[in-house]
Amino acid sequence: MNLYGEMLIGFASVRGTEGVRRAFNPAINAEIAVPEFGMGGAAEVERAARLAERAFDTFRNLPLEERARFLEAIAENIVDTGEALIERAHAETGLSVARLQGERSRTVGQLHLFARVVRDGRFLGATVDHAQPERQPLPRADLRLAKVPLGPVAVFGASNFPLAFSVAGGDTASAFAAGAPVIVKAHGAHLGTSELVGRAIQKAVRDCGLPEGVFSLLFGAGRELGEALVAHPTIKAVGFTGSRQGGLALMRIANARPEPIPVYAEMSSINPVFLFPGALARRAEAIGKGFADSLTLGVGQFCTNPGLVFAVDGPDLDRFVDSAAQALSTKSAQTMLTPGIFEAFCSGTRAVEGVQGVRKVAQGQAAGALANAAEASLYVTDAKRLLAAPELESEMFGPASIVVRATNIEELVEVAEHVEGQLTVTLQIEPDDYPHARRLLPVLERKAGRILANGFPTGVEVCHAMVHGGPFPSTSNAMFTSVGATAIERFLRPICYQDLPDTLLPEVVKEGNPLGLSRIVDGELICTR
Ligand code: NAP
Repeated sequence: MNLYGEMLIGFASVRGTEGVRRAFNPAINAEIAVPEFGMGGAAEVERAARLAERAFDTFRNLPLEERARFLEAIAENIVDTGEALIERAHAETGLSVARLQGERSRTVGQLHLFARVVRDGRFLGATVDHAQPERQPLPRADLRLAKVPLGPVAVFGASNFPLAFSVAGGDTASAFAAGAPVIVKAHGAHLGTSELVGRAIQKAVRDCGLPEGVFSLLFGAGRELGEALVAHPTIKAVGFTGSRQGGLALMRIANARPEPIPVYAEMSSINPVFLFPGALARRAEAIGKGFADSLTLGVGQFCTNPGLVFAVDGPDLDRFVDSAAQALSTKSAQTMLTPGIFEAFCSGTRAVEGVQGVRKVAQGQAAGALANAAEASLYVTDAKRLLAAPELESEMFGPASIVVRATNIEELVEVAEHVEGQLTVTLQIEPDDYPHARRLLPVLERKAGRILANGFPTGVEVCHAMVHGGPFPSTSNAMFTSVGATAIERFLRPICYQDLPDTLLPEVVKEGNPLGLSRIVDGELICTR
């Protein structure tokens, strides 16, 4: 598949006229010469949005089997892009080939998962309450609930997952599964990767005989195109992964519209890890090594990176710090996704180093001549300092973390109460720690979307039970997840049909259950499979 530097609007390839941009190779600090990408603006947003609006009713009313096959066709086409996709993504992001191959498998797996979700049909929430004409004192009407997609969705590709959270990533797959057309704003950090994946989707739309407008891909430099997309009246929801600043800006635009819409923004999280005394006594060294691996995985460019470690002070915590410091000192510096992300990492670590009472205890291998390469860092401070210096809780997007020493378990509970909303919280525990863990859990349940034991937060399984979400500021809406099967719920809303003749009802709630779905009927779950 060739690259042309063109946006994909419905079935057309469109060269943008709002300036040009080349992709950038962060590993050699140089632009990638070909192709030149033409940037779009408000006119392209308008064109894509109108097509999406026109495609919406046809797309959402397709048989579930056709929708599922569309998701599978995208997966097949992505696999068919072969090594060209991996090579391009490697050049544009500095991420290793092995990591990108794994990410492509995850992307394909995600599309297959949503195909299964669509076929299963439970996401439609089919619920039937039969009429009760004899009920006293008043009869009950016939009431039937089904979920429908909100409407066209705008997706902002994430810089740190050029495949799994970008053009055909989790937001797009879950929106398509819901029956929503998608318009993606490509992330400027991987324009060529975006075009290749976009063409794979465009081909699937054609091959599956879907209406033009189910998918469009736009390029935009500066903020105008993204702002115009969120503000467009046709767009009914937004999926975003990126900075807190960016997410908040899009939420402001969405809320200021005559018709406000939801922005599902996954923003910043520092993913505290609690090391309990029993676990430290038994496994301090092993936890230190595992922590260093987790912290440096993918150059720390994960929203689940463990940016804070909490533990009660003492010799066992010293053993953990020594082990982590030793492991980190062997980690080589690695190129980050973009010069901007590298700059932000450097200024974040400088800010932490400038806080009184914070000590650097570990440093990874020097970057040397490697461009935009982050060196791992570990800092130590105490709980009182953290409580007094909110800047220590800012996300350092990269391989840096702070160990916070508490004087006792009460202080651990106090810092847990203090931290902002998180995607994850990790507990390193042994059975003798369970009483302490029981005290902390009610606090942590208010703070995080995922609580895990004796592991590390990096590595997010794509499955039915996953929650990749959490209270603000980790996301804009703690009620939903952006990873896993239930991510589809972000793009659905319920409709209740009251006393509609059977012939006018959608198939999902028709009396004869022609789709053979599991449904709740008069309060009872009736399983058909
Ligand atoms: P970003 O700056 O938030 O940008 C993400 C996307 O949103 C880009 O397409 C960007 O467009 C767009 N955007 C941002 N602000 C906007 C605004 N005000 N109006 C319209 N569009 C806007 O995130 P990033 O480029 O991925 O990385 C920057 C920083 O974000 C990182 O250093 C890191 O701190 C954080 N980050 C966090 C996570 C996480 O999962 N927690 C993931 C990635 C990044 P333009 O590129 O055209 O400006």
